[in-house]
Amino acid sequence: MRRKNHSRFFSFPTARRIHAWRALPENGLALIRYASYYLQDCDIDQDHIIGPAHGGRIVLHRGYQQARVFLAACSLGLAQACLDHSLTFAKERKAFGGPIGRLQLVQEMIAQMALQVDAARLLTYRAAWNVDQGRTDLKQLAMAKLYACEAGTKCADLAIQVHGGWGYMDDCPVSRYYRDNRICTIGDGSTQIQTLLIARESGLEAAFA
Ligand SMILES: Cc1cc2nc3c(=O)[nH]c(=O)nc-3n(C[C@H](O)[C@H](O)[C@H](O)COP(=O)(O)OP(=O)(O)OC[C@H]3O[C@@H](n4cnc5c(N)ncnc54)[C@H](O)[C@@H]3O)c2cc1C
Repeated sequence: MRRKNHSRFFSFPTARRIHAWRALPENGLALIRYASYYLQDCDIDQDHIIGPAHGGRIVLHRGYQQARVFLAACSLGLAQACLDHSLTFAKERKAFGGPIGRLQLVQEMIAQMALQVDAARLLTYRAAWNVDQGRTDLKQLAMAKLYACEAGTKCADLAIQVHGGWGYMDDCPVSRYYRDNRICTIGDGSTQIQTLLIARESGLEAAFA
């Protein structure tokens, strides 16, 4: 099957000739289970095809618009939660004669998080507004997805640092936010692909298919 002519379809793991291969334990997103499957001589019902037959690429790209705003918004929420937890912790955790929030290098980490959260919010809201208005602005979508998802990882990393040894424990919320956010810079067009899209939409020759 040629890549550009593929069809998208849904099916069920129990369907005839769709075989579960093995479960794939992942780093985060504990509520979702992943597994790899393989298909063997598999017939797909016509009404299980999503969109037009052989039009999978169009369906995929249409879905990307919502998916990119969705992932940007997920990361924005996680980044905000990292900031909130870190602020609370910095005020409550007492060490070396007082709350660690009075230490300037801790303040620098909090300020970096606040900056990233605000910038991610503005980019994400702008992209979401366009999607709501039925406008497709690939550059703004790519900017929102890239920036917000990277901000999620950076804020979670900084939040772990603010929390010190407690931040490294699996039970610490910001540690989970780090694991949960990590997929956001990979799925639905990785950070590298968003970078190329921004360059292409800025008028440079596309260096990828
Ligand atoms: C938990 C999880 C859930 C997922 N859910 C879904 C889902 O619901 N639906 C779905 O369709 N897919 C899903 N995926 C797949 C996901 O979209 C892909 O993993 C993602 O698009 C990256 O593709 P890949 O893994 O093939 O990596 P590759 O494409 O092999 O990329 C590997 C690395 O190379 C870089 N790279 C690739 N091409 C270029 C280029 N031209 N220039 C520069 N760098 C490049 C990438 O940025 C990345 O860093 C999921 C994956 C995971 C892990």
